[in-house]
Amino acid sequence: MTAPHVPAPSELTTLRQRYRLERERRVRPDGAAQYHDAEAEFGYYAADPYTAEPTERGPLHDTVGVTVIGGGFGGILAGARLRQQGVERVRIVEKGGDFGGTWYWNRYPGVHCDVESHVYLPMLDETGYVPEWKYAPGDEIRRHAVRIANTFGLYADALFSTGVTALTWDEASEMWLVATDRGDAFRTAYVVNATGTLTDPKLPGIPGIEDFKGHTFHTSRWDYAYTGGSPEGGMTGLADKRVGVVGTGATGVQAIPMLAEDAAHLYVFQRTPSTVDRRDNRRTTAGDVGADHKGWARERRENFLRIVSGEAVEEDLVADRWTASAGLLEKLLPSFRRGGDPKAFEAAYEVADAAKMNELRARVEQTVTDPGTGEKLKPWYRYACKRPTFSDLYYPAFNRDNVTLVDTADTHGIERVTAHGVTTGGTTYELDCLVFATGFNVGTSGILSGRLPVHGRGGVQLLDRWARLGRRTLHGFTSNGFPNLIQMGPLQNASSVNFTHVLDEQAVHAAALVAAAEAEGALIEPSPEAEDAWIAALAEDAPDHEWFHAECTPGYYNREGRGRPNGPNSYPHGAVAFHRLLRNWRDTSMHEALRPRTAAPDPSGTH
Ligand code: NDP
Repeated sequence: MTAPHVPAPSELTTLRQRYRLERERRVRPDGAAQYHDAEAEFGYYAADPYTAEPTERGPLHDTVGVTVIGGGFGGILAGARLRQQGVERVRIVEKGGDFGGTWYWNRYPGVHCDVESHVYLPMLDETGYVPEWKYAPGDEIRRHAVRIANTFGLYADALFSTGVTALTWDEASEMWLVATDRGDAFRTAYVVNATGTLTDPKLPGIPGIEDFKGHTFHTSRWDYAYTGGSPEGGMTGLADKRVGVVGTGATGVQAIPMLAEDAAHLYVFQRTPSTVDRRDNRRTTAGDVGADHKGWARERRENFLRIVSGEAVEEDLVADRWTASAGLLEKLLPSFRRGGDPKAFEAAYEVADAAKMNELRARVEQTVTDPGTGEKLKPWYRYACKRPTFSDLYYPAFNRDNVTLVDTADTHGIERVTAHGVTTGGTTYELDCLVFATGFNVGTSGILSGRLPVHGRGGVQLLDRWARLGRRTLHGFTSNGFPNLIQMGPLQNASSVNFTHVLDEQAVHAAALVAAAEAEGALIEPSPEAEDAWIAALAEDAPDHEWFHAECTPGYYNREGRGRPNGPNSYPHGAVAFHRLLRNWRDTSMHEALRPRTAAPDPSGTH
């Protein structure tokens, strides 16, 4: 192997200039407003292509102990951890026709998780399941979600094809009233909100997008009735079709090689190329992953979390391209703390970043035979500016005669959709089918979207209060004025690329809060002082990454080029330290978040 090339100072200057130029080609004055909410504006996306008919049932007017909103991994893990705490009545309310969340909706061809399956799939120790591939296909992950739900008896009370539409605190009974789009109006002692982060599909506001007369869908609502086949391919319905795909993010990179195999012709409309590193997927045995003792999966995922959070480990158990590049991801995570001179650190960081990006650009050259196409596929930005992707199939797809790459950077994306295709850069591409791999509204699902109003004590609406006072929580989970409401997700805590690990720690915490409240006959409600202290703790050591993101190519990591705001959004010392903090707090201070009930506990509560 040749030694990695170390970029010289003059090369770094040239790169900086190139990166700035490429950013300027892409920044749009409308920023995030360029996107449209697919469900709100294109109603047909609300349909569920994977469940033909929702189960018939009448509206419910009963009482349950805990209501969990969302049946993805967050909600399932909350349910499982609550069961482990002895809570019997857990009602998970889920919009989809079954459990799985993102893995229920995303069934596009080629769908896999690019985080190692042995650390990504939660509760492997508890279920005894050992994945057989380093990177699992979406269907295996969805079936594992179902496995956990079955193991912990979560189907019994679950409501599928149902969306919660409002939560209202009833002062007299000290319970929440839950309203849904199926006419339910039931009471519950506790609510756990687990509505996910990337759930609402978005579409670009391309002029004429509504006029397209061919077939069209978003990748998270794949229409196999039209394409034929399955996530493994075999889309015979596309054999005589001209297909266009918009978007080359993590989804596009997985779906495009499959479309290339099956479509008569594939046009890939690219605005910004992703970084596409090696994936090296392979079969694994239990021996390969050390699945020979109790707790192996917990150890492995802790090891991965430590590495991607910048903490020292003796051995890299996962040893993949995430862990190899972990140091370069620090601009996404507040947790990387290095001693010494910050200038020297930044200089070393820039050299390492340039070396990595050179390696990835060289990868394009080594694979793509047409130099013009290869040039367009090269990413010109720093590694942490966009979500990294991994594929061994993506670049070879562009060597096929039936695949055309259309670069749309100069026109800030596709210029116009017409009745029969796409016009951009002065050329019209006639299409039978147009697939949008254009991602999701970020961080605005569930309560934060504003479409699920939450009225707490005194009828105060949660988002109104946060608009006035700023977002206020204790550890991201609970808020004063909103008793027994526990929020999961990335708000005011610490996240990681292995999001299921983060969710499981949150689920353990949520279940412990419920158990403590039940044991003491109390409500979970932090004081305003506890919220103040948490916000101060978040702000105290907040890192300054704003300048870095301000120079990045636009995307959802940096509010479409407007930069990444500093402030009390996440715990500055990272996920490993945050989980430690939660454990200590549960051992010593959990009573701080409890306050006495005034109403008698409901007899049909949690046990
Ligand atoms: P992204 O938001 O990451 O990508 C959207 C793509 O659409 C970008 O390439 C974007 O270009 C492009 N686009 C948007 N508007 C236009 C336009 N007007 N013209 C041309 N192109 C346009 O969505 P994804 O669905 O790919 O990924 C969402 C997230 O889901 C990921 O970041 C990841 O966290 C997760 N995911 C995880 C996977 C895993 O294996 N763990 C697999 C798939 C997804 P531009 O970059 O220029 O904005």
